Amino acid sequence: MRIDVDRDKCEGLGMCEAMAHEYFELDDDDTMTVLDDSPPEVDRSKVHAAVEACPVMALSLAG
Ligand code: SF4
Repeated sequence: MRIDVDRDKCEGLGMCEAMAHEYFELDDDDTMTVLDDSPPEVDRSKVHAAVEACPVMALSLAG
């Protein structure tokens, strides 16, 4: 499983961080960093929820 970010879409809204702070982090400029783009299978539902929560659909999961 891999997290992909469409940087053209991401607006730093932070829903992903709220849903899965282990994987997404916003800095003071609202720039989002993916802390680990290859989550283990055990975290699939959490990461999927974060992907679904993004209001601008900037996130996707591959694999
Ligand atoms: S929820 Fe979407 S727009 Fe907000 S920081 Fe995460 S990826 Fe970017």
